[in-house]
Formats: sequence, structure tokens, C-alpha cells
Amino acid sequence: MNLSKLIAKHVQKLVPYQSARRIGGHGHTFLNANESPKSEFYIFNSTTLNRYPDCQPEEVVSGFADYIGVQYNHVLVSRGSDEAIGLIIRTFVEQENEGIVIAPPTYGMYEVAARTNNVRVAYAERHEDFTLDADLILEAVNKADFNVKAVFIDSPANPLGILFEKAELEKLLKALPDTLVVLDQAYIEFARKGYDFAKLVDEYDNLIVTRTLSKAFALAGIRCGFTIANPEIIKAMLKVIDPYPVCDPVAQIAKQALASGGINLMEVRVAECIKRRDILDSALRSLPIVEKIFESNGNYLLVKFKDGPAVFNAMAQKGVILRSFEDKKGLKNCIRISIGSDLELEELMRYLTQFANSQA
Ligand code: PMP
Repeated sequence: MNLSKLIAKHVQKLVPYQSARRIGGHGHTFLNANESPKSEFYIFNSTTLNRYPDCQPEEVVSGFADYIGVQYNHVLVSRGSDEAIGLIIRTFVEQENEGIVIAPPTYGMYEVAARTNNVRVAYAERHEDFTLDADLILEAVNKADFNVKAVFIDSPANPLGILFEKAELEKLLKALPDTLVVLDQAYIEFARKGYDFAKLVDEYDNLIVTRTLSKAFALAGIRCGFTIANPEIIKAMLKVIDPYPVCDPVAQIAKQALASGGINLMEVRVAECIKRRDILDSALRSLPIVEKIFESNGNYLLVKFKDGPAVFNAMAQKGVILRSFEDKKGLKNCIRISIGSDLELEELMRYLTQFANSQA
């Protein structure tokens, strides 16, 4: 039997998302997945594990709604914001004849989720400095030979680190009343002030914001993300979501992270991360192998080296695993470095300096 023929045609063609874990790599210092370098301590009660959890654990939904200042019925909790991306596509975009617009280089899951669900993808251009505006997206929407149901924009952008301006977002929301504008704000806690647009869901019915506990809250391991949108959008997504997307231990931990103590800890963690990001930025600037450092609003730096692959391989040989963007549009020689601990970043700088000296 030819089993490969059984696989749906669109899945046969699918290139899966290359997560840091799937790419792997042998090393001891992992600066490739934008994770927090340290985990916190949580209390865990195992006496309810015999029961199925609530589909939408109330205290997690209300904890997050209070944290960002929106009403509870505007929030959906899911298995990471990755699940939210897939859910949005499955709920709103019809297979084969409708699709989404993205603006590469951008977070890879939008395209993978679209292709997995057999919906179409069109690409918006960026300006030469990689910034994006409403007109560039509108041009792609108008040019697409299918009905564009959703536009996905990451702000802060991964790996670019840049932000999408409020005026551009509002222009887009007004120009596309029948299209969903999905603003992925996974890294917003690390950004310059004034770019958190979750509250705009009160004003714009076609705005969806996605958020996560994976980054600022240092909880990538529990897989807990959020969608913020008009209650009608949330209700539609709840028709499609799996019966029990948030495991009971996840809900217990998320609840603690979203209590006031957890939020205070998060704020300290973010401030320290930004300090280390600035220190790494200046240290890298002193190296002759560095060509450019992109402005960052996340827990990572995107760095253009004179010879990216040589740097990536030299670090991997030392056991320091970074993320290469060599084959992504406009990002030749670019490497993304997650902001690790002081010790990890000191180690990285030691090896980068050695490498720079060996090239001199
Ligand atoms: N959005 C962006 C821009 C990301 O970089 C990531 C993870 N790297 C995600 C969403 C997914 O986050 P999670 O599923 O862990 O919430």
C-alpha cells in the first residue's frame, strides 16, 4: 500500500514549522527560541487531576482580562498563541478560495497554519528598512486573486523587532471592514511604551490581538496564550476549539502568574531582560564582525554579521545555539540572539570575540 498517497494533497506539500526544538542542535546554551533564561516556582495541587478541566478556566480568562484591562467576554485562552493562530484561520477562512495576507519576514506559523488548513497566502512588501504600513498591506489585499479574510501582523515583529504604528493599524482597520486584522503581540511587554493595542478591540470589531504567557511571563513550557477580540469573534472561535485546550496544571500555574505577585515578578524580569539586551547591544557594536543590529522591542536581538553562517557554525561548535535567518527574505547573514542570562551572554560574547580575533 502506498501510504503517502493517503496524505491529503495540501499536507503532502506542507513544510512544517521549523521550531527551535525541531531544528534541535547539540549544545548547552540555547539562545534560539526567545525563552526566558529562568523558570519560577509554582504551587501545584494534584487532587483534581481525575476531572476534565474547564474549556475556558474562568480564573485564567478573568486574570488575563484584568491584566490587560478588557472585559472577560473579549478573551479566549488557548494552547499557546500558536493554537490561536490556527483557530482564527479554521474559524474564518474558507478552504481553497479564501486566504490571508502576511508580510515576510515575519513569524513563520501564519503561513504554516494557512497551508495546513488549505487556505491561500498572499505577501505584502515591506519598505527597504523593513517597516510596514497600511498602504503596503492594502496593496497586497487588492492584488490577491482570492478573498482575503485575515491579515496577520506581528508587533513587535519576529525576528525584525520593529513595531506597527497605531495610525497605520487604525487606517487598515477602517479600510478593511470585512477583513480581520490579527495583531500578534507576543512580545509586547518588552516593547517601547504606547504600542499595546489590545484595548482597541472595544472600538474595532475586525481587530484580533493575540498574546502569550510564553515570553514575558517565562512560561513557554505550559503553552498558554490568549485571543482578545469582539465577543462574537470569541464565540465563533469557541465553536472550533478542542474540548479541553487548557490542561488543569496549566490553568493552576497561569492563575498564579496572573495574580498580582506574578505580574510584579514579570515586570522585574522584563526590566532586567531589557537591561541585558542593551548591554549585549553595545558589546556587539564593538565587534568588527557585526554589520548591523536591528532596533529591538522583544527579548532578542537581530544581528547582521559580515558572514552569518560562519558565526552561526562557530557558535554551534562551542555549544551555543543561535537562530539563523540566512534563508529568509532580506535577512542574509542575519542571526537572532535570544536574551539569555548574564552568564549565557558573557559566554556568547567571549566566543564571538575569539571568533572576531581569529578573523582579524
Ligand atoms: N507569535 C510570535 C511572534 C512568536 O514569536 C511566537 C513564538 N515564538 C508565538 C507567537 C507563539 O507563541 P506561543 O505559542 O508560545 O504563545
